[in-house]
Amino acid sequence: MIFDLAAWRGALTPQRPAVWHEGRWLSYGALARRAERLAARLHALGVTPGERVGVLAPNHPVHLEALLAAPKLGFVHTPFNHRLAAPELGALLREIAPRLVLAARECAPLLEACAAPVVFLDRYEDWLADCGSLPPPPALSADHPWMLLFTGGSTGVPKGALIPYRQVFANAVNTVLAWELGAADCAIQATPMFHAAVNVLATPLLYAGGRVVLMSAFDPQEYLQLARAHGATLWFMVPTMYQRLLGALERELAPAPRLAISGGAPCPLALIEAFRARGLPLRQGYGLTEAGVNCFALDEAQARAHPDAVGLPMPLLRAAIRRADGSECATDEIGELTLSGPAVFSGYYGKPEETAQALRGGWLWTGDLARRDAQGLHYLVGRRKEMYISGGENVYPAEIEAALAAHPAVAECAVLGVSHPDWGETGLACVALKPGTSAGTEALRAFLRERLAAYKLPRAFLFLDELPKTAAGKIDKPALRKRYQAASAQEEKTHGASVHREA
Ligand code: AMP
Repeated sequence: MIFDLAAWRGALTPQRPAVWHEGRWLSYGALARRAERLAARLHALGVTPGERVGVLAPNHPVHLEALLAAPKLGFVHTPFNHRLAAPELGALLREIAPRLVLAARECAPLLEACAAPVVFLDRYEDWLADCGSLPPPPALSADHPWMLLFTGGSTGVPKGALIPYRQVFANAVNTVLAWELGAADCAIQATPMFHAAVNVLATPLLYAGGRVVLMSAFDPQEYLQLARAHGATLWFMVPTMYQRLLGALERELAPAPRLAISGGAPCPLALIEAFRARGLPLRQGYGLTEAGVNCFALDEAQARAHPDAVGLPMPLLRAAIRRADGSECATDEIGELTLSGPAVFSGYYGKPEETAQALRGGWLWTGDLARRDAQGLHYLVGRRKEMYISGGENVYPAEIEAALAAHPAVAECAVLGVSHPDWGETGLACVALKPGTSAGTEALRAFLRERLAAYKLPRAFLFLDELPKTAAGKIDKPALRKRYQAASAQEEKTHGASVHREA
């Protein structure tokens, strides 16, 4: 296994371009030297194995420099979400107690209560200059944590997932083999690097000797321009980003990437079709921070024939769909997706109960519901926690969302289970309509009635101009629930809010 990725790549392909940011390429040789200087500087400050070194910044090469410096000292690369509010970040910093934080200057107001020393990026070069020498490399095991990555974030305090060396390496092997990554590939990192998205393409590509283009913040026009300028061969975004990109796209995409993956949430089929009609071979990808991150793959013929499938498990990952008692489901039976192999994480930082809940009997219980067809292809059905029971029937919001997203007036939608006096629970459909279109509750329900069983039809609708998103770009369902509660309370007072309910 390769622990010191920067030293290996820096010696093997020093001249080759590795990372682009704001008009400047860093070669693999330059990246290796910068990682070495950062490690030496941190060593001079007394940073020891297992200590956390934080990064708080929009996408920037410092994320990769800290990641690549980590094996030289054994510290844990810990990127924080720079979009958190100061009290949220403060609680995380107290829990994680980083030894030092490397931060963008604009994040200074978030760090007022930070007990650790902070090095701002506008002083970083001067600070690095005074670096000293490196100690002998530490003896790291495959289980030593390389990164601490935070999951979720919109449902209370985010959990820190400990990502060991074996996980990052196994994910790179999986991704390089299954998606056929090589030195000729180039990807744009537009999703935040404080998230597991850094392992979707960036770390596998650095192993493969390819090119990574960093975008500080996502903008659809800029994405297209960078993709053209650098000849990006691989695309990865979450569905809400693809949705925004669609508006910016002319009819044909030229040159098209060889592979475009959507992940992080179910991708509406209408979106996949719209991109495919413009020459972009978009497919569903599935992954989670705790496993890989990349868990499944399918080839172009399978993706065309089964656009709703995520495919076959990655080569170093085993998948089993299970009932609550742990027994394996039959073909096409819905159960919880469990995964095992070297790409599974070690546990949650400081949270033994949550770790024991997630890792049972050598398997990661993902919390996601899935089925496997007779050909062995896997399909995601929804999250276990999001499934609700209406009149005694299980309802999977993802199925209703997929049907609703196919309505020509619907720009974005999300479905949640909410309590109902007669049915126990019922669906709340949160909808943002495309500009210049109109569709009311009745029209949407009639559209769904033609496609879904009656018990699946949402009984409440909440119309918004735009759905709220998490920092990772996913639709923020807890925030929608709060908006619904607020709108319902308001409606009770004024009868004027945009909530519509059926008896
Ligand atoms: P995170 O660890 O923050 O990247 O979130 C991972 C979660 O995103 C998974 O557990 C799933 O619930 C969800 N997810 C990722 N990809 C898909 C997909 N293709 N379809 C449905 N849900 C997905």
